[in-house]
Amino acid sequence: MFARCSFCSKPNTEVDTLVAGPGVFICDGCVQLCVSVIEGKPADVPLIAPWEHDLPLEQVLSNLRPVSAASTQVQDNLAAWVGKARALGGTWSQIGEALGMTRQSAWERFA
Ligand SMILES: [Zn+2]
Repeated sequence: MFARCSFCSKPNTEVDTLVAGPGVFICDGCVQLCVSVIEGKPADVPLIAPWEHDLPLEQVLSNLRPVSAASTQVQDNLAAWVGKARALGGTWSQIGEALGMTRQSAWERFA
């Protein structure tokens, strides 16, 4: 297993297609759900962050684990990309510049 859908957490072995984004993935089933949400969306609903909706505590608590898992996957993917850059001969200076941080910060975070 190399990746999980960032939306439903299913591993790549349990979905037909997993589309990669920058450190995140989405499966074919979640794309279908997104399409139906977009098609059924009322035209005048203001866009606000999900945590700004009026939600019960249980629903807020149930969101913590999947958000944390997605965050962990993104951090793991970033570390893998940095490892790939190193394997290709990239210097810590180049990696730091690409990440918008100092060479020292990049080394301390990923070495
Ligand atoms: Zn999914």
